[in-house]
Amino acid sequence: MILITGGAGYIGSHVNKELSRAGYETLTLDNLERGHRELVKWGKLEVCDLSDEERLRKILESYPIDAVMHFAAYAYVGESVENPEIYYENNVRNTLNLLKVMRKQGIEYIVFSSTCATYGIPTEIPIKESHPQNPVNPYGRSKLAVEHMLEDYSKAYGLRYVSLRYFNAAGADPDTEIGEWHEPETHLIPIVLETALGERSHVEIYGTDYPTPDGTCIRDFIHVSDLATAHLLALEYLKSGGDSDVFNLGNGAGFSVREVIERAGEITGKNINVVEGNRRPGDPPVLVGSAQKAKKVLGWEPRYGSLDVIIETAWEWHKKLSYLRR
Ligand code: UDP
Repeated sequence: MILITGGAGYIGSHVNKELSRAGYETLTLDNLERGHRELVKWGKLEVCDLSDEERLRKILESYPIDAVMHFAAYAYVGESVENPEIYYENNVRNTLNLLKVMRKQGIEYIVFSSTCATYGIPTEIPIKESHPQNPVNPYGRSKLAVEHMLEDYSKAYGLRYVSLRYFNAAGADPDTEIGEWHEPETHLIPIVLETALGERSHVEIYGTDYPTPDGTCIRDFIHVSDLATAHLLALEYLKSGGDSDVFNLGNGAGFSVREVIERAGEITGKNINVVEGNRRPGDPPVLVGSAQKAKKVLGWEPRYGSLDVIIETAWEWHKKLSYLRR
């Protein structure tokens, strides 16, 4: 059985679907603070906060857990700048609780949800795993701290881990069973689609004076179901004896904020009002990753790599979510 912390969240729920389809039994552990019970459609659910070490220990004792997929974390860059304490508490200290309990229970494998935010401002594009890690915000620092904890646990106690550094997770389950559901929403594609649905009056572009061809930031969007496949491959890699390692997960192609808005306008057939605003602090102009290592070592190949498919699947989900929320 695979334990999925944060399995009621965006990426965790897609991984739950992927693991279940591959025949694994899953246990989602989520405090439901930011996750949604409706997204836990496979396996079992235990509502628990990772700060509750005693309860965590009891849960891990009562299920036959072979490996952990760890998603439970706060993930808003802006919030982390305003209130770093909760990021260090939830993302770092609570992960330490999890690792302690895993060690006591003798659970050997963990796949960790890391991020390209651990690199900071890129000095080279596309970003490879060997790029220096100098995160520029507490969110990125909290994730990097966990990468270091895993490295140390691995050396000292023999834990084996894979850290997956995602670029911009986007899109939704192609069957529209689950998808992105953040409150408040801060991410570009959902905001554009909520504008298309008439739930917002406009999209604000954060900065039009970047040193990029159209002046807006460029990001590498990767479909959430492709991320999910990579988690399954990482688990199988560890189980078959693979060494602890880190992998980037991205498409290796960048799209500007304006390009995303334009494609979304065409795909939805809606007029999307745009307001040009100031830069958002902490946004690097270009973030594009190289996933060559994941392709080579894990045999990963994105299936939903086109921006259109990413936006189309997200659009189908957002139309559904709009009903769910009413
Ligand atoms: N962005 C924007 N308007 C929004 C939300 C995001 O212009 O309402 C931009 C943001 O500045 C960044 C890109 O879109 O350059 C992707 O931002 P998002 O928050 O989706 O992901 P991040 O890159 O922060 O992980």
